[in-house]
Amino acid sequence: MNLQDVIELDKRDSLAGKKDEFELPPELIYLDGNSLGALPKTAKTRAREVVEQQWGQGLIRSWNDYQWIDMPVQVGEKIARLIGAAIGQTICCDSVSVNLFKLLACALHSQQGRSLILTDSDNFPADLYIAQNLSKFQAARPCQLRTVARQDIEAELDDSVAVLMLTHVNYKSGLMYDMANITALAHQHGILVIWDLSHSTGAVPLALDDWQVDFAVGCGYKYLNGGPGAPAFIFAAHRHHGNMEQPLQGWMGHKSPFSFSPLYESGSGMLQFLSGTPPVLSMSTLDAALDVFADVQIQNLRQKSLALSSLFLELVVADEVFSELQYQSPENPARRGSQLAFSHPHAFAICQALIARHVIVDYRAPDILRIGFAPLYISFQDVWNSVKHLRQVIVAKSYLQEEYSVMNKVT
Ligand SMILES: *Cc1c(COP(=O)(O)O)cnc(C)c1O
Repeated sequence: MNLQDVIELDKRDSLAGKKDEFELPPELIYLDGNSLGALPKTAKTRAREVVEQQWGQGLIRSWNDYQWIDMPVQVGEKIARLIGAAIGQTICCDSVSVNLFKLLACALHSQQGRSLILTDSDNFPADLYIAQNLSKFQAARPCQLRTVARQDIEAELDDSVAVLMLTHVNYKSGLMYDMANITALAHQHGILVIWDLSHSTGAVPLALDDWQVDFAVGCGYKYLNGGPGAPAFIFAAHRHHGNMEQPLQGWMGHKSPFSFSPLYESGSGMLQFLSGTPPVLSMSTLDAALDVFADVQIQNLRQKSLALSSLFLELVVADEVFSELQYQSPENPARRGSQLAFSHPHAFAICQALIARHVIVDYRAPDILRIGFAPLYISFQDVWNSVKHLRQVIVAKSYLQEEYSVMNKVT
């Protein structure tokens, strides 16, 4: 593979035009869209409009005039298309963590006689934290968390497990579970499954209905490009709607919020997952950002994402200089998400040295260099150039410079 071939790949890329729909500093190669998606121009325009017009001029009238009140449902339905969910099963609200709390409690509630939550020890720590503490809030129905090694998950599925909670694409390695298969295995034992789709939605084809998924949560600010802290979403399959009781009952989930009745009565379907008032500004930018996907086939996104990561890997493997980096993601492209991970004792400093060269990647403790390939705005030449920069950092050992070891609060 040489530069000419890479330029050819960009020429043949049917998604190449999508990059123009984003605001990206021209000098930057942004390989961190798996952590915070880039800014779509539609989202920027919408943010201005919502602040100046809808809020500034419309004030409280905008709850009706601009249907702010319906946004959780409307944005949820836009996400539904990306996750293979029929209408009425997806709603946008709160953060992934809060939504996971709601779903765990809800799933436990419907699993009479079982109290065990099973997960893998590689799961995203925030997901583990939520599950670790849940029992304290379940006075009537205490639960336990069992954390096992990833390769033991299937063997641990038995009739004592109430809920299996897994993250589809691992945040560090990018390793991807076979969601259809694991869900089916769990169902054979009457287990309900909650999938965290934070690193999948907007990057990997998902077919939640076809795969008989029970419940899922996902993130609005990674591949969906909703903006920092954009709200997350919840999916709950229709067949569970009659038997759900989520613990954070709030007025927005009430069947008639503006009757101000002193007694809670849950709204129908997905509405019951709402707790408080939607964050209109950030849900609006997410709403606008989702329009970027309107004419995109997820299969094409996936193909490009794998072509990008495969190119990166190919260039790294072919060059002796990179032998000090240990590849930590699956060899089989079908088993990985939209990112690659390499370990190196100086991973943090390498990451900083790359950022100083305007190549933004990230670091995950203790020693992982993580490279994300958001296919909507990354080109094959971006990949080529990022490998060139990485090569220079390694050859010159510039990561040993003191300034690259200074850690900020957010890594
Ligand atoms: C990003 C991410 C989250 C984010 O959780 P928030 O509560 O929205 O901050 C949760 N789980 C996984 C697996 C993630 O990658």
